[in-house]
Amino acid sequence: MVVPGGFRESFAADFGAEAYEALLRTLTEVPSPVSIRRHPTKLSPLTPGSIPWCPEGLLLPERPIFGADPLWHAGAYYVQEPASMAVARYLAAIDFAPVIALDLCAAPGGKSTLLRSHLPDDCLLVTNEPDKKRAKVLEENILRWGAEETLVTSALPAALRAAGVKADLILVDAPCSGEGMFRKEPEAVTGWSLDLVDRCAKTQREILREAWEMLTDGGLLIYSTCTYNRAENEAQLSFLRDDYGAEVIHLPELPQYGAEESDEERGLYRFFPHRTGSEGLTCFGVRKAGPRVSPEPVARGLAGRARAIPEELRDLAEEQLLSTPDGTGWRLLSLRGVALLRLLEQAEGIRILRAGVDLGSVKGRDFIPDVSWVLSATASNHLPYPRRAVTAAEAFALIGRQTIPSSGAKGYRVATYAGVPLTLIKDLGSRVNNLYPKGLALHDTRLTPSDMPHILDNQ
Ligand code: SAM
Repeated sequence: MVVPGGFRESFAADFGAEAYEALLRTLTEVPSPVSIRRHPTKLSPLTPGSIPWCPEGLLLPERPIFGADPLWHAGAYYVQEPASMAVARYLAAIDFAPVIALDLCAAPGGKSTLLRSHLPDDCLLVTNEPDKKRAKVLEENILRWGAEETLVTSALPAALRAAGVKADLILVDAPCSGEGMFRKEPEAVTGWSLDLVDRCAKTQREILREAWEMLTDGGLLIYSTCTYNRAENEAQLSFLRDDYGAEVIHLPELPQYGAEESDEERGLYRFFPHRTGSEGLTCFGVRKAGPRVSPEPVARGLAGRARAIPEELRDLAEEQLLSTPDGTGWRLLSLRGVALLRLLEQAEGIRILRAGVDLGSVKGRDFIPDVSWVLSATASNHLPYPRRAVTAAEAFALIGRQTIPSSGAKGYRVATYAGVPLTLIKDLGSRVNNLYPKGLALHDTRLTPSDMPHILDNQ
């Protein structure tokens, strides 16, 4: 591997020439690990995993075509490199249940989907990505994983802070110089420079300032980068400690898994590819001092709840059903979620891409269900439609928005593959309409069912 000019000197100055040689050898001789994180409820119960710090994690022997897998489409797993999965360890290290979690730099959604699975079900997750295109990908990944109690936004952190957003858990998985991605992403090598490190460190500092203002007393801030240098890591932790009195949270188990604890800032951990078999990642967690304050957005303008509830939604918690002002569209979101949604709707510079689970809409006398409900992690258990288990070839057809043969019985059906809800179909008796959304569909017409991976067959 050809490393960018200045990297060797900078890395060796921080961690020594020997560590540099070990890193380079690994990046050159060992291929990137291929790993997935399984959905803990869609696939429950899980078989034992192979990533020690994350029970849902699984290493794969090779990289399959994930996009050709109906189970990937169904949100049964997320493709994620191993070190990133360690971030959720902080949730086990705190002594409170977060009420509002905010992921400030969230696309494409790896750590947000991880958080969603490890946060309490009633904790509202606001997952945010300022870049418009990347925010769209984030929204799709959240939809696949299950959008319960989740708001997807696109805003700069300053806009969220100005809107009055408060959270008791904030993740800053910061834009960084990408040293930890040299093996996986060739652009990380070509784009790296000492100047980039400097610019990233400044941006990270700005994001941390905004994050700190939004964090409630007693709350947890998790910070991570996929880079090693001290300017983007130790310097950010010492800033939070010295300027804001942040209290460092220690995860003594991480060094047992091979992560290195910083000698300069205890409680800051590095995943080096040559030590942990992952890509590179550095992380720390800090608590804001003071007795814990629960962030509760003040509910404003909750109109829309008093509509006649469609029969199809009777099995869902009534207080979480939210209708559009004209009573046609319905979604599932808690009162807390709605209150925060209203706050965001009235603010400047914030786009809201998704708010909770879209259940469907009323058209004349009919209720048209939405695939978001099928893909939800738990509300899908309350779908009022029979399930139809489809074969591998049928599942492949459905993710390509093709049709499958009618079963003869008319009505909506939840198509499941390997037991996991995948999409909605409407059986007309003679043919089947597939409601799988265009935006999520597999568009590569060169792929055939023989390209389908079967990585979870023994799961
Ligand atoms: N957390 C993501 C995951 O696990 O999939 C990866 C996040 S990536 C390391 C950093 C993200 O920060 C990028 O998507 C980037 O667009 C976004 N970003 C860039 N500038 C930002 C800013 N000023 N505030 C917040 N996010 C920013």
